[in-house]
Amino acid sequence: MTASVETLSRHWIDGTWQEGPGAIPVVNPATEETIAEVPAGGASEIDTAVVAARHAFTRWAATPLVDRVATVLAIREGIKARSAEIAASITAEMGSPTKFANSVQVGMPMATSKGVAGLAESFPWTEEIGNSLVVREPVGVVGAVTPWNYPLHQVVAKVAPALVAGCTIVLKPSEVAPLTASILAEITAEAGLPGGVFNVVHGTGPEAGEALAKHPLVDMVSFTGSVPAGRRVQEVAAGTVKRVALELGGKSANIVLDDADLTQAVKLGLGNCFINGGQTCTAWTRLLVPEALHDQVVEMAVEQSAKYTVGDPTDESTRIGPMSSDRQRERVEHYITQGVEEGAELAAGGPGRPDGLEHGAYVRPTIFSGVRPDMVIAQEEIFGPVLSVMPYADEDEAVEIANATVYGLAGAVFAGSQERGLEVAKRMRTGQVDVNGGAFNPLAPFGGYKQSGTGRELGRYGLEEFLEVKSIQL
Ligand code: NAD
Repeated sequence: MTASVETLSRHWIDGTWQEGPGAIPVVNPATEETIAEVPAGGASEIDTAVVAARHAFTRWAATPLVDRVATVLAIREGIKARSAEIAASITAEMGSPTKFANSVQVGMPMATSKGVAGLAESFPWTEEIGNSLVVREPVGVVGAVTPWNYPLHQVVAKVAPALVAGCTIVLKPSEVAPLTASILAEITAEAGLPGGVFNVVHGTGPEAGEALAKHPLVDMVSFTGSVPAGRRVQEVAAGTVKRVALELGGKSANIVLDDADLTQAVKLGLGNCFINGGQTCTAWTRLLVPEALHDQVVEMAVEQSAKYTVGDPTDESTRIGPMSSDRQRERVEHYITQGVEEGAELAAGGPGRPDGLEHGAYVRPTIFSGVRPDMVIAQEEIFGPVLSVMPYADEDEAVEIANATVYGLAGAVFAGSQERGLEVAKRMRTGQVDVNGGAFNPLAPFGGYKQSGTGRELGRYGLEEFLEVKSIQL
């Protein structure tokens, strides 16, 4: 089944498509064409959806776990059946290249939903402590607010565990890339999810997002996005003392030690920086290298970067598509210009558009060398294909530089031995670290230290976020 533009551009509330006032254009960043419009929901639509979710909660929470898990797996099957359509929707709404959209944008939610469904049976739902029976119960109505960079994954990382936990959900997807959420709404209905359990209200952050975060009948807000928006969500949610889980930005460091396999460190390092056009919260945007190896590493990175073809995201050979929007292109270009002005050396790329790409939100994949820790490009999240190569004097200084931003989401270490890599990984103040290219694990807890956030998603830890704990004394 293919979603129609008509259904895509409505709210999904209480199991029905509902029209609403306002129109937010959805622009294909490669073609600059408006491909759809979604309504600009606000407090009124949020209230209707939250009330529906509240009504649906009692029954859904009482639905046997085995049936909740079966529904999540049926949703997963629905995603699988429509994977090509979903990937095309993601490519159209935010420019992720077709190949990446199929393999990662759709592949990741398949893996994470299977992961949480698989652990539900063995999860310790009850526990005895002395004369107490400790039971885990769904937190209630969840308000989910998600970004545009992984339009399905970010949603499923919240919806799948929330459904397994027994929660009902009101989702406010990104207004930049809202269409995939509507396809998911159709899939949930086809999977037999009762009306009101999963609702989608379109709109902007300050209108629909804040209305959701402050709503008194919402028990928890699960937010993924930028630090400023997350801070605001926490502020408005404080009025009703609800649980707030924040998955925010990052400025992750890839520490290459003097005995590392440089070829592997540079290849994987650049790949993890340019992933999804650099629009990935965990992107390893700072490449920390021993002073003596700096020039050699820069040369290797520049050579490697030539493989990152920029262009039409529907072309199978494209590795970097446009930025998600023209606004994002401007932001990335601004930082590249700032890096030049700050005195960082341009080793590859630079300001302006790539040759031959006069239209669309394209930027030039850029490598800066000789970047100092106090430079803005070494401190702020750029969210584009921009790598900063930073020299360090010794291992202690490498760790100090890695930890010297307000962020703490992810990072990497490349070392001659796993033991040495592990020691450095333990000193990094971040929620996850990959040693010598350790693979992404969809069951491992995912989240940030410091201003990268307050919660953990995925696997058992992700499920626990959506649960309350009750002690019953017997
Ligand atoms: P954003 O903060 O602009 O928007 C994210 C969501 O928040 C959108 O739905 C938006 O409408 C909403 N929003 C904005 N202002 C709001 C407000 N005042 N109240 C309530 N909601 C509001 O972020 P973005 O540009 O869509 O995404 C990029 C950011 O997301 C980057 O900082 C990136 O690092 C972060 N991110 C983090 C993770 C993670 O898991 N830690 C994952 C992906 C993206």
